[in-house]
Amino acid sequence: MSDSKNQTDPSRRAFLAGAAVAASVAAIGLKPRTASAAGENLPHLSESDPLAKSLGYRAHASNVDRKKYPNFKPGDRCGICRFFLGKPGQKSGYGGCQIYAGYSVNADGWCASYNARS
Ligand code: SF4
Repeated sequence: MSDSKNQTDPSRRAFLAGAAVAASVAAIGLKPRTASAAGENLPHLSESDPLAKSLGYRAHASNVDRKKYPNFKPGDRCGICRFFLGKPGQKSGYGGCQIYAGYSVNADGWCASYNARS
């Protein structure tokens, strides 16, 4: 017998995981790196990376699963996310991301940890 009320919605779970990661990043005081260490030369994050997969990362935001991530809005992308370490507003190419240490993400990508720059 299945009790769907006790199961956590996958998009909610991914959002909470992203929020937890973001809170951890903030708690340990990580700050965006300098322009010379913006991460554009780091290996590209794979969509199949376990953390990336859990947060629904897509190298191209147009491929985001809109049913699974209803909080995604057209126009949201890494280049305008506060966790992106590349050039703010960057429209193409890759840059580092505070969530995925050691990897670069596509400026046109997106994941459930997206948080618009203010
Ligand atoms: S820059 Fe933002 S949206 Fe892009 S992968 Fe990092 S946290 Fe996710």
